[in-house]
Amino acid sequence: MPGEFALIDRIRARVRTRHDVALGIGDDAAVLRVPAGYDLVVTSDTLVAGVHFPAESAAADIGWKALAVNLSDLAAMAATPAWCTLALTLPQSDADWVDSFLDGFLELAEHHDLCLVGGDTTQGPLSITVTAHGLVPEGQALRRSGAQAGDEVWVTGSIGDAAGALQQWRARGPASAKLRHRLDRPTPRVEAGLALRGLATAGIDLSDGLAADLGHVLAASALGARIDLGRLPTSRTLADHFDEAARWPLQLSGGDDYELCFTAPPAAAFAIEQALDQAGVTATVIGQLEATPGLRWLTPEGEDYTPPRAGYQHFQGVH
Ligand code: ADP
Ligand code: MG
Repeated sequence: MPGEFALIDRIRARVRTRHDVALGIGDDAAVLRVPAGYDLVVTSDTLVAGVHFPAESAAADIGWKALAVNLSDLAAMAATPAWCTLALTLPQSDADWVDSFLDGFLELAEHHDLCLVGGDTTQGPLSITVTAHGLVPEGQALRRSGAQAGDEVWVTGSIGDAAGALQQWRARGPASAKLRHRLDRPTPRVEAGLALRGLATAGIDLSDGLAADLGHVLAASALGARIDLGRLPTSRTLADHFDEAARWPLQLSGGDDYELCFTAPPAAAFAIEQALDQAGVTATVIGQLEATPGLRWLTPEGEDYTPPRAGYQHFQGVH
């Protein structure tokens, strides 16, 4: 079995560098050149086996997802991905597992010209922490605060697929491969985030479910919202497997969507559609912000709807 340093060498051998990496893997720390006029945007996310992914998930999927959830945070800040570090805790030194993990991780990294510049390798229960660094022109990061009453609420792509896959997996019944793909290989909306610079007033990525995450935007902006359930962007696959009553809880509280939820004045709608179209991402208006605090959900019949449970919170479980 390879030791810690042999594993690190294995990782280092596969990494493609970037012009602004003065020093990458191999020293005590990395040295990175932040261009003048840019803010550095930093985010970190941990995936723990059995909590964030089924323990038997394919290593390549775990590698992809460990990076995707971090890139999704950069996307939500409208930052361009630049560098990342990888802290790997492995039950044993398994070179094949690390190779497969890197297949998924580096495929996504290279797609976004993101350079792995360092990390840590330790033994213990399987857990992966990625820290990702992005760049945004000074002052232009997209925050959770900044939304205004009257702004429209938008969501990219479609929501609920990953939660649908998780529900099917838990039930051990028939499972859709398409839904499962969205759970295992989420697409971080990096291009959409960049396209929204200067257009959106506030934004967040959907990791814990629309209800919880939009709730964060409302809290940060001291506003309320009215959302039309009939307008939630829904994939045909999700609609084929779950009727409305079964679908709404997945879409509002399921989580793991890694879509962007953002706000913008109605007058910006055309510019947003054009910018997102160029970025190759669809987006849908699902409701509007109001001055009165609180989140109100309306069925297509105009009736009030209460989501059955809030998003997942560590230390509190699902509640
Ligand atoms: P130190 O003991 O000085 O912290 P390490 O032996 O932990 O150094 O790491 C040696 C080098 O390898 C460092 O540049 C570190 O950033 C890098 N490194 C360690 N583990 C990983 C990993 N999982 N992925 C990428 N780089 C790593
Ligand atoms: Mg170390």
